[in-house]
Amino acid sequence: NADAAMYHAKASGKDNYQFYSKILNAEALERLELENCLRHALDRNELELAYQPKYETQSERICGAEALLRWTHPQRGRISPAEFVPICEEIGLIIPIGEWIVREVCGQLNAWRDAGLAAVPVAINLSAVQFRQPDLIDRVLKIVAETGVDPELLEFEITEGAAMENIALTTATLSHFQAQGFHLSIDDFGTGHSSLSYLKQFPINTLKVDQSFVRHLCESPKDAAIVKSIVTLAHSLDFTVVAEGVETRAQLDHLSGLGCDVIQGYLFSRPVPPQELAELLDETSLARAAV
Ligand code: C2E
Ligand code: MG
Ligand code: MG
Ligand code: MG
Repeated sequence: NADAAMYHAKASGKDNYQFYSKILNAEALERLELENCLRHALDRNELELAYQPKYETQSERICGAEALLRWTHPQRGRISPAEFVPICEEIGLIIPIGEWIVREVCGQLNAWRDAGLAAVPVAINLSAVQFRQPDLIDRVLKIVAETGVDPELLEFEITEGAAMENIALTTATLSHFQAQGFHLSIDDFGTGHSSLSYLKQFPINTLKVDQSFVRHLCESPKDAAIVKSIVTLAHSLDFTVVAEGVETRAQLDHLSGLGCDVIQGYLFSRPVPPQELAELLDETSLARAAV
């Protein structure tokens, strides 16, 4: 490890690297390299968005999509957001990248509208770090004003964990978003130690059931009971329910029986490039026109 680090240090030819290589292990060095690459990822056009459609459970029609960040590292290829998003959060990069995501989604919505496609809302994931920025809403509103996108077509997903970090801040921020007409969802619901009394006061539209409960829904009576309770809870608070990670027809049938409104998962579609989502939306537009 030390040898590898030293080799790297020499190859990079930087004095400070040579010094630090003695104490850094290979893992830390790799992390540092990843960080450095990430800092250039935006400028070098290495970031893209994939879009995963959401489907109405009953009609099986597309009723929305979620934008998911993709990074192609110049040497290592595709790296999972589960690996690089936390790094972006730690080094503050998620702020400019998050802004780029909002701009990109707004541009995409306009492009789909200009192509005459059915307008479906697109969801953007907000990290806890973004959510803590006092000027988040102003930055979003600026982009929305510049691009002329209808706020009704934008949805923001915040994880249950992030939402529960600071209840007062979450309630205030969500209220600002709601007042502007944006849709709001709690993501990964069921994994973040929610306090139900707070859930009641959040101005949100949707709960997304975490995929860990959906995975064994059909074999595990406990997971089935949890999902059933979440659907009941959501409906009694007037929220719609989305199930994430639906991979099989059996899961879909089970969720449909529980009254889950919307499903998202590999069964119907993986996250796809924007051109492919346009094709899926085109089918939706045709189906709507035929009704
Ligand atoms: P998430 O927001 O809960 O997104 C759902 C993840 O589940 C996505 O992984 C999606 O590709 C995956 N997924 C969807 N359907 C299925 C399925 O049927 N089976 C399985 N096994 N997986 C499925 P992805 O794209 O790798 O993203 C992982 C996480 O990274 C996201 O979880 C989110 O927390 C974060 N992330 C992704 N894009 C962004 C972004 O633009 N901004 C921020 N802040 N975080 C993001
Ligand atoms: Mg999400
Ligand atoms: Mg999720
Ligand atoms: Mg997640």
